[in-house]
Amino acid sequence: MRATVMFEAGDVRIENVPDPKIIEPTDAIISVTRACICGSDLWPYKNMERTETSRVMGHEAIGVVEDVGAEVRTIKRGDLVIMPFAFSDGTCEFCHDGLQTSCVHGGFFGTMETAGAQAEAVRIPQADGTLFRLEVEKENELMPSLLTLSDVMGTGHHAAATAKVGPGKKVAVVGDGAVGLCGVIAARRLGAEQIILLGRHADRIALAKEFGATDVVSERGDEAVERAHELTGGSGVHSVLECVGLDQSMETAIKIARPGGAVGRVGVPQHESMPASEPAFYNNITVSGGPAPVRAYIEELLPDVLEGKIQPGRVLDRTVGLDGVPDGYRAMNERKAIKVMVRP
Ligand SMILES: [Zn+2]
Repeated sequence: MRATVMFEAGDVRIENVPDPKIIEPTDAIISVTRACICGSDLWPYKNMERTETSRVMGHEAIGVVEDVGAEVRTIKRGDLVIMPFAFSDGTCEFCHDGLQTSCVHGGFFGTMETAGAQAEAVRIPQADGTLFRLEVEKENELMPSLLTLSDVMGTGHHAAATAKVGPGKKVAVVGDGAVGLCGVIAARRLGAEQIILLGRHADRIALAKEFGATDVVSERGDEAVERAHELTGGSGVHSVLECVGLDQSMETAIKIARPGGAVGRVGVPQHESMPASEPAFYNNITVSGGPAPVRAYIEELLPDVLEGKIQPGRVLDRTVGLDGVPDGYRAMNERKAIKVMVRP
């Protein structure tokens, strides 16, 4: 089959690779009908060193189940399913806690260990716990929004949930990428009164306003902190959704939180230590977040997608076939596309 293979930074190609096969009796194989390129795929695209093993990319997909292992009980051939970016057994203590990204039998797609979904097909470990069956037609117009439940919408929701967004709260969203935009949707959905987007790209700002952003801060660093305080009567926001992962964005996130506020971080941190430890301490800021257990959130978010109350699929502003995937990476890296949908 054909798949997207990353060899090193800047070198991503469509290659012929062996077809995925059932290895464990708990596996399933799905043919991919929709996948996407993620902002987090841009980190290896920028930094990956050449290694012995190349990496089949992609961790967000919708597909049709083609085969299941002998111990798969709830998923069957022909099912249309969402593949969340992490696999999980659905039965361990952390899965029961709704934290599937910490599953004791879990892992992540599109890594060196587990092949990803920017491909014609993909092997799904722990199929019963991982896959979410959809009861809609394969070519439903809601497909882009349903696809975001595999990562970005669930991740934006996780940022909002861990930042304790609720009715009447003042909220800031740091980052205007696909996750930040979904964070705006999530904050609005959870009843935030004020939603300040920190971003600089005109097209993304326009979309954020449609999603419910009430204010925009395009400054950076101390100026951004000052501006956010001005917009909140001097006190800062209750909840900050950190959707970037860089030191500067984390520092800004902590400094714009009001005393007693919370930061929900979903941007993959690019450094070991956490910045702004001192203001976080003196202002009693809760710093939370991490890899989103999107599998846990599908049930909560799905009805709003099916009813058209939220339209996170609008962040997918370009569609390519497999051959167009390398161009898709380039477009996202150059900020010419917010997020690229792949139709293998
Ligand atoms: Zn588990």
